[in-house]
Amino acid sequence: MTARLLGAHMPTAGGLHKALERGQEIGCTAIQIFTHSPQQWASKPLDPAKVQLFRDTWAASNIQQVVSHDSYLINLAHPTPEGREKSRRALLGEMQRCHELGVPQVVSHMGSHLGQGEDVGLQLVADEVLTLLTEAPSSVTILMETTAGQGSSLNYKFEHLAKILDLTRAPSQLGICLDTCHIFAAGYDLRTREAYEQTMDALGRIVGFDRLGAIHCNDSKKPLGSRVDRHEHLGEGEIGPTAFECLMADERFFGVPILLETPDAETQHEVNLARLWKWASESDEAT
Ligand SMILES: [Zn+2]
Ligand SMILES: [Zn+2]
Repeated sequence: MTARLLGAHMPTAGGLHKALERGQEIGCTAIQIFTHSPQQWASKPLDPAKVQLFRDTWAASNIQQVVSHDSYLINLAHPTPEGREKSRRALLGEMQRCHELGVPQVVSHMGSHLGQGEDVGLQLVADEVLTLLTEAPSSVTILMETTAGQGSSLNYKFEHLAKILDLTRAPSQLGICLDTCHIFAAGYDLRTREAYEQTMDALGRIVGFDRLGAIHCNDSKKPLGSRVDRHEHLGEGEIGPTAFECLMADERFFGVPILLETPDAETQHEVNLARLWKWASESDEAT
């Protein structure tokens, strides 16, 4: 049986290594972190002693995979060259921090077209990715996250992800991160077994599972197609439990980190994670 990579986005208050310790305590085998404040552009270089502490804590833990999430400010489709450059530099900085920490993947929202239109936005993102990869450490893969389609966000359709992969000729350092809340809010139904299969078939057909580097596992406070991004506890939102039971039984995703970004991390991650492990063990018993 493949080891399951189940976990959550863990707070880093008190140091990056704290995310590993807390994750281990609540039963994570994978975690996601911010390597610096996601609401700020500026970031100091990592302290080498803290990098070593992170690596030592990780090596001594049951955590098998760590994923980072980039700053929310980054917009590779910004209408001005200065805005795109600033965003590219910020993502490069994030990839360099990941490289130092030994983190192999960074999840990014990539960008919003801000009125330029989706085709222009996708082309700008693709151009920035190609420039970025000439400078970025080769040890780190960018995972383009599916969005809810709020505002002028790109990547709320699987076709957008496929288009960026096509325009960049699908470099090995470019993959995707599927967010269950976001795709549902964007209009991909997951509420029944049939709907789940249809949505995942579309993903496989349009993008391909080989590009899938991580899954964000969140229920949605808002209805199908609302294009509003509000996460809910698993099984308690508009998506409901069936989708997550299907996800835990889906062998295509064994070995892919499945990470919670549900509310009230400090008290409720443990509860939501226990639900994932329960669905996982039920599916293991059924096979
Ligand atoms: Zn997400
Ligand atoms: Zn979200």
